[in-house]
Amino acid sequence: MNNTTAADSRIRSIVIVGGGTAGWMAAAALANRFKQGVTKITLIESAEIGIIGVGEATVPYIKEFLQDLNINEVDFMRATKATYKLGIDFDGWHKPGEKFIHPFAGYGARIARIPFHHYWAKMRTQKKAQALDDYCLAAQMARHNKFALPKANNDIELSSFNYAFHFDAGLFAHYLSGIAQTLGVKRIQANVQQVNQCPDSGFIRSVGLDTGEIIEGEFFIDCSGFNGLLIEQTLKTGYETWNQWLRCDRAVAMPCTSKIAPASATRSLAMDAGWQWRIPLQHRVGNGYVYCSDYISDDLAAEKLRENLEGEALADPKFIRFTTGMRKQAWNKNVFCLGLASGFMEPLESTSIYLIQSSLTLLLNHFPNNQYNQALVDTVNNNLRIRQEKLRDFLILHYHLNQRHGQALWDECRTMSIPDTLAARIEYFKKTCQPQVDELDFFGTNSWLAMFSGFNIQSDYYHPVVDDFDTHLVEKELQAIATNINNTVKNLPSHLDFIKRNIVGE
Ligand SMILES: Cc1cc2nc3c(=O)[nH]c(=O)nc-3n(C[C@H](O)[C@H](O)[C@H](O)COP(=O)(O)OP(=O)(O)OC[C@H]3O[C@@H](n4cnc5c(N)ncnc54)[C@H](O)[C@@H]3O)c2cc1C
Repeated sequence: MNNTTAADSRIRSIVIVGGGTAGWMAAAALANRFKQGVTKITLIESAEIGIIGVGEATVPYIKEFLQDLNINEVDFMRATKATYKLGIDFDGWHKPGEKFIHPFAGYGARIARIPFHHYWAKMRTQKKAQALDDYCLAAQMARHNKFALPKANNDIELSSFNYAFHFDAGLFAHYLSGIAQTLGVKRIQANVQQVNQCPDSGFIRSVGLDTGEIIEGEFFIDCSGFNGLLIEQTLKTGYETWNQWLRCDRAVAMPCTSKIAPASATRSLAMDAGWQWRIPLQHRVGNGYVYCSDYISDDLAAEKLRENLEGEALADPKFIRFTTGMRKQAWNKNVFCLGLASGFMEPLESTSIYLIQSSLTLLLNHFPNNQYNQALVDTVNNNLRIRQEKLRDFLILHYHLNQRHGQALWDECRTMSIPDTLAARIEYFKKTCQPQVDELDFFGTNSWLAMFSGFNIQSDYYHPVVDDFDTHLVEKELQAIATNINNTVKNLPSHLDFIKRNIVGE
């Protein structure tokens, strides 16, 4: 950035370092926003280093990203071999053998304008209610491997649910790369070998490639993965670690062939030293064991994962080490970091791609001109910090509320002290029957309800209007809702049939 005040202060050159999911999402979004011919966007990626190649489960917010780029959902699903995702199927997290679903949906229907879960809370204490999942269409669709697109109907909460995708990470980056290049992004395949800074300000001026080329830029986006080539190795921004609460620090990934029809939810199975994901795609299944290296060796983790594969392994185990936490500033001088360069929270709730997207949206809404503007930097950094701390708390809750007694990792997580912010949220729910969420929470009321019910956290309170209704009538109403959902689910196509008919075109 220069210091002259010109009539036209637009930034003319943006350089993105890294061509994984973060780099190509940034390239496509920026090229879509900025007028071609004014701001030059260059992306540098290294074939030698490659991409991390995991990150295949998403949250519904991804649909907004596709819509902004005018991407047709069916085309996208074909290109990335995607399947639908209605939520996450948590198996054994509360206790071994117990399951619950975190759906992208709400529960039941309002009665006399009071949310359903107040009625459910009362009836549950009287043992006159089924599991909360039984009152959620999306949860039951996921439980029975069914899928249909939601139909808008504001009167009946039963019909309102959302969905996301499971996709092939490599194909996703490739697909976005095509779109970004069509929108004018210049792609360079090379290794960045040196980073050149302005001696006075420390701002980055250019990067030197192994081809001998020097690429200059006014604004840089660091999407270089865990190493954070610009934001950390060059600017030494600092990293805040959260592994005192989120104890897992490694993962082993191994794709396999599919033997069973694809589930319409991500599967998250609690294991002795962490948990295992299973992500069904059209052409294979993504699997991984996220674990705490204090409690299991790499070899044993790989062996446990292999034992649980549904089909033949398609590759050798890939081991990934990570440190949970966040970069102290996402935006430092003229560098903004995204994706793994900006921090990492384990993929328990598929929040990383969501964070890439929301960070990009924030950056685009506060995009600088060629004058340094601390107010914009602070606004974006503060907002991102709050969002990440909220996500962190949501993830910690999954571990802390477990009842897997006698397993060292789980005993440690259950008894550890948790952030005050999370402790306050749990207490608030116990007192009010209402999750405490605000506009910076990605996970809203329904998500927290899914967790509280899945981990058997009950409230002492329910809304007094609930007592205006005869208990027998409320019981019948609850039964009617569950039956209605059951009947609807029976008549829906299987997830596999839906994909074959609407995506594959068989
Ligand atoms: C085990 C695991 C499971 C995950 N699962 C999920 C999930 O289910 N859902 C989800 O939302 N997220 C998930 N994530 C996170 C997700 O994978 C990442 O957020 C996403 O892939 C973005 O990665 P990236 O683009 O930042 O990094 P990478 O994919 O690592 O890309 C880095 C890029 O930088 C380039 N590069 C690096 N150094 C140089 C250099 N010197 N010169 C030139 N280029 C360079 C590389 O070649 C590459 O192109 C998971 C992560 C892990 C570790």
